[in-house]
Amino acid sequence: MQGIQDIKDQQLIKHFSYINGSWHSSETEFEVTNPANGNVVAKVSNAGIAETELAVKSAKSVLKMWSAKSANERAGLMRNWFNLMMQHQDDLGRILTLEQGKPLAEAKGEIAYGAAFIEWFSEEGKRVYGDTIPGPSGDKRIIVIKQPVGVVASITPWNFPNAMIARKAAAALAAGCTFVVRPATQTPLSALAMAELAERAGIPAGVFNVVTGDDARGMGKVLTQHPDIAKFTFTGSTGVGQSLIAQCATTVKKVSMELGGNAPFIVFDDADIDAAVQGAIVSKYRNAGQTCVCTNRIFVQESVLEHFTEKFTAAVAELSIGDGLSEGTTIGPMISKTALDDVNKLVTESVAAGATITLGGDNHPAGENFYQPTIMTNVTNDMPIAANEIFGPVSPIISFTDESDVLAMANDCEYGLASYFYSRDIGRIWRVAEGLEYGMVGINEGIISNAAAPFGGMKQSGNGREGSKYGLDDYLEIKYLCMGGLDK
Ligand code: NAP
Repeated sequence: MQGIQDIKDQQLIKHFSYINGSWHSSETEFEVTNPANGNVVAKVSNAGIAETELAVKSAKSVLKMWSAKSANERAGLMRNWFNLMMQHQDDLGRILTLEQGKPLAEAKGEIAYGAAFIEWFSEEGKRVYGDTIPGPSGDKRIIVIKQPVGVVASITPWNFPNAMIARKAAAALAAGCTFVVRPATQTPLSALAMAELAERAGIPAGVFNVVTGDDARGMGKVLTQHPDIAKFTFTGSTGVGQSLIAQCATTVKKVSMELGGNAPFIVFDDADIDAAVQGAIVSKYRNAGQTCVCTNRIFVQESVLEHFTEKFTAAVAELSIGDGLSEGTTIGPMISKTALDDVNKLVTESVAAGATITLGGDNHPAGENFYQPTIMTNVTNDMPIAANEIFGPVSPIISFTDESDVLAMANDCEYGLASYFYSRDIGRIWRVAEGLEYGMVGINEGIISNAAAPFGGMKQSGNGREGSKYGLDDYLEIKYLCMGGLDK
């Protein structure tokens, strides 16, 4: 059985929090387990409020030094970090699979995706341009400069243990901010490996800090309420995000929230059905359906319903379930038994409400955290499987006849993160793209996220953007300089 002992560079496996450039042990430890088999992968020190406060203090103490560096200097160090991540892509991918479960090819893809944000923002940090604005009178000039917001704190989820940190840290560091992250309890090892490589890259002590611990609430209070933190950025569920926004209100922090989703995937009758099937497979079953941009509801126009469902079912039946480190696995385990039970409950309740299981629909014999890739038909938009974020490998298919009806159903939800549709009709493409109340729209495309594009949601899917020039703005303050008394 492959395990942590097979990682080539054993120095990437860290057990302590990384604060102010050194590794901090705590009095107690917590276990990181492999969701594929329940084996303990490693024990990690259980930091708490005191260590979190220390990390904030260290980030504050080097803020002036880091922000005073030229964008070029910061870019050079970040480029080193990017290179090291890519050089260690295989090891980082294996660590990620061991603690999170996704297939190794996907895990390595996540490392490349996360590293791409570090590369992209290292370059974009050189383009923090200001502005000059014509003044209201001859003796005045208006100048706009942009400056780093200050110390940035973040909390990240388990579903992308590397990339959710990289997306935030890259923009923050490029803007001249310093950074503290508390990764999810289930996946601290990827975060600590990133810290080891940040140190090797020459990023100065205190600029990038990682505190690992299972006291989410206590550590979260420090990260949302500490007066030395200027900005808080979170990726996770909408419910937790709502309470963290409220906590940030007491010190009026800037906040960015990447929260839950309920992505519609619409197949119109003029679509390329083979392309739509492929798009639905990648947008639904990647990471065993545990991504915020995962297709959650598949709407298919009635005249192509049978054709699409047949081809889609055949493609889903080809997916190979197993340990993410086994050759050929395309779907790994779910993160936990609780997560699996939640999915099972949505399926069972929806069957009771009239839905039909066409494929799968139950636990998979590969292990207690494995769920069969599932397809459900005869689903309506109000059934539990459609009304909730599934976060598992289940595709509910809903039929429709009319473009305006499907738009209304797609938008009838509190989320607004990703959406997808397949059509070859240019008029329809514009109407539907403009009509979807979502921050991101994949048009004839099932994989839409990359470092150059603004990732983020509308409605209760959050606010702010990660990636792209818009993502850098989230870590910058606009300062207006009014120069007066210029008359002779
Ligand atoms: P979650 O329960 O909200 O947890 C996310 C993070 O918040 C974890 O680090 C967790 O710590 C921490 N946390 C939980 N309760 C907290 C509290 N009271 N105070 C402070 N921190 C707290 O979400 P999840 O179930 O792990 O992740 C799945 C969710 O994330 C889904 O809704 C998904 O859509 C969303 N997501 C969104 C995006 C996006 O970009 N929009 C990307 C990925 C995921 P512990 O690990 O200790 O519980």
